[in-house]
Amino acid sequence: MTDLPSKKPKTPPGPKPALAAHGASSDTRLLLKRLREIMAGGGPAPGRLDRIARIIATNMVAEVCSIYLRRAGDVLELFATEGLNPEAVHKTRLRIGEGIVGDIAAHARALALSDAPADPRFAYRPETGEEPYQSMMGVPILRAGKVVGVVAVQNRAQRHYSEDEIETMQTVAMVLAEMVASGELVSAEELREADGIALLPLRLPGVRMNGGLAIGQAVQHEPRIVVKRLIAEDIPLELERLNAALAGMYSALDMMLADDALAHGGEHREILETYRMIAEDRGWLGRIREAIEGGLTAEAAAEKVRNENNARMQAVADPYLRERMTDFDDLARRLLLHLSSGDGRADIQRPGDLPPDIVVVAHSMGPAELLDYDRARLRGIVLEEGSPTAHVAIVAKALDIPVVGRVRGALARIEPNDPIVVDADHSQIFVRPGEDVLAMYRQTASDRVARRAGYVAMRELPAVTRDGVAIALRLNAGLLVDLQMLAETGAEGVGLYRTEIPFMVRPAFPSAEEQASLYGRILDLAVGRPVVFRTLDIGGDKLLPYFGEKTEDNPAMGWRAIRIGLDHPALLRRQLRALVRAAAGRELNVMFPMIAEVAEFAAARRLLDLELARCAARGIAPPKSFRVGAMIEVPALLFQLPALAERADFVSVGSNDLVQFLFASDRGNPRLAQRYDVLAPPVLSLLRQLVATCRAARGGKGISLTLCGEMAGDPLEAMALIGLGFRQLSMAAPNVGPVKAMVRSLEAGLVAEYLEELRESCDHSLRSKLLGFARDHGITL
Ligand code: PEP
Ligand code: MG
Repeated sequence: MTDLPSKKPKTPPGPKPALAAHGASSDTRLLLKRLREIMAGGGPAPGRLDRIARIIATNMVAEVCSIYLRRAGDVLELFATEGLNPEAVHKTRLRIGEGIVGDIAAHARALALSDAPADPRFAYRPETGEEPYQSMMGVPILRAGKVVGVVAVQNRAQRHYSEDEIETMQTVAMVLAEMVASGELVSAEELREADGIALLPLRLPGVRMNGGLAIGQAVQHEPRIVVKRLIAEDIPLELERLNAALAGMYSALDMMLADDALAHGGEHREILETYRMIAEDRGWLGRIREAIEGGLTAEAAAEKVRNENNARMQAVADPYLRERMTDFDDLARRLLLHLSSGDGRADIQRPGDLPPDIVVVAHSMGPAELLDYDRARLRGIVLEEGSPTAHVAIVAKALDIPVVGRVRGALARIEPNDPIVVDADHSQIFVRPGEDVLAMYRQTASDRVARRAGYVAMRELPAVTRDGVAIALRLNAGLLVDLQMLAETGAEGVGLYRTEIPFMVRPAFPSAEEQASLYGRILDLAVGRPVVFRTLDIGGDKLLPYFGEKTEDNPAMGWRAIRIGLDHPALLRRQLRALVRAAAGRELNVMFPMIAEVAEFAAARRLLDLELARCAARGIAPPKSFRVGAMIEVPALLFQLPALAERADFVSVGSNDLVQFLFASDRGNPRLAQRYDVLAPPVLSLLRQLVATCRAARGGKGISLTLCGEMAGDPLEAMALIGLGFRQLSMAAPNVGPVKAMVRSLEAGLVAEYLEELRESCDHSLRSKLLGFARDHGITL
């Protein structure tokens, strides 16, 4: 019984001094050595757990060490204790969030309290006999980023627990996590999310990260790598193994960057380059090295840091930071693969084992991981995490792969090879769908293919209604790869280029030169078709981490878009300079977002004039021509339209924002998504008046008017817009075909008359009436 203390440790009175820096690692190593002996010693798991509790107490110079494990129903149960009443084992149970132990589990973070009973979270349990204990320190037991238990020590006297001691406990928790994972103490089934019968078809809702429809079989993204060897025998050797694995990982990433056809320039490459850069993050590597020096193997150290990261991620709301943490998770996985096989890539892709139609199911995914899959077979992606602005979504969009994110418990509920339908357009997936559901989706998928072929055939045909009204259809774009859709769809140009996306995927503001080269490439790819560049629309939910924006109570109405540009004119001027240079000798179209009043537009335009003057003064070739426009998104601007028309060359309605401000209804709030309709009488009245004012502007000469919000891309809504008098619409590439088909089947005069009849309607929405009209008139929707 080498692990038994010869006598009860005595806590020194007063605060215990922190372990000397050089002593901390050797203490941890000693503890790990003893843990290894216990683990290797065999015997029933509960007995081993008791002995572990005992040696932790001894090593940490604590009177109490208790180990709580998570059970079904989000409960923590006392499984072993040294120092508390042994009768309390399996009796004391705390809900997650209850008491200090429950709080550690709820927040997945360590807590050290020198006066625990005084803490408001303290929950006294008489059966444990813990009243004499003053100080307490506990850490979560984490596995795959999930809390599976808590290990805590307590001392009679007031005591300060040092950082090193907390670190030691975290390392011990890592070893305990492996014991829990073996299923000897709590069965894996018990902790699974309950869905009833596991093999019944299941509909899981999520968030659309990239639209589309995919049918395939589930492939669990990188099934968990089980780290078997946890405790290092030779620390210098482990450090060497880490360095070798890192070198292997770096060169594999470099190869990916060098040869990937997809990454030839553009945002994808930038995303990958940023990813490559963070692979050398000193903080991350330092934490792994520290864990090795604490006595773990290189694999266990990488896994420990990964677990801690994943647990922290649960509490991070900032989308950029979450994305960075996802990148670290991805990197840790890669590193583990290099450590276990010496060749990460070989282990990731096992073409023989994978089904022909792959639907990847993952907790989260980095952009590089997506590229590890065979693109000819990858049909769809299901993630437990994620938002539409996640890097993986940007890359998936470029590859046209449907992605549904934020699907709760996806990994626990989906078995490998389960048939899956990814209905990203409707933000849902079906797992193990019945033959009827599958048949319906197969039909939808083949209809889509046929329809797509029809749209391609229509590409060269003009978008003209049956009564001869020409409608200009343009693209909304934000990635270089979107530009190739100009040729594929036959769109007349880019009606809205959202310039913020390249800013969001970078680690720092791009210089004027970098921006100019990007904008130049966009114009090259557009080969003479007009491109309307919208200046930066950051703020709100589009935060740039390097910009130091603060979270706001009401970001949609906050410091965003042109407001930032006017408050930081140097920033806006840098972008305008880049645009002016990129358009040398060509046509330049610039549009300012979120303009609320004419004075704002005038101020922004002055900055552009300054840049044009600067360009002339330096003898740089100016744009051949230029047009400056404003987005109509803020209702206040509607009351100054005639004055705006005197100063602007065109206006474009951002209906997404305009409608949210009109109804005071957050466009991102799913609870309000069905509340108001864009085809409601107030919206249509407003748009009708807007058309009339734009036509009458400038003494009857008129001002060019476009609509570039989501409405323009929906055939029924676009039909209503044409009926109200809109002649220019800008939409996402996949919508051009369907809208063109609608236009070519429409009599613009008839729909205008019908809308006139409905002018005084007080219905909640005119959608069903317009649908009936379309059906009656054979309009293709
Ligand atoms: C809009 O608000 O309609 C718009 C096109 O801008 P964004 O969707 O980028 O806010
Ligand atoms: Mg907008």
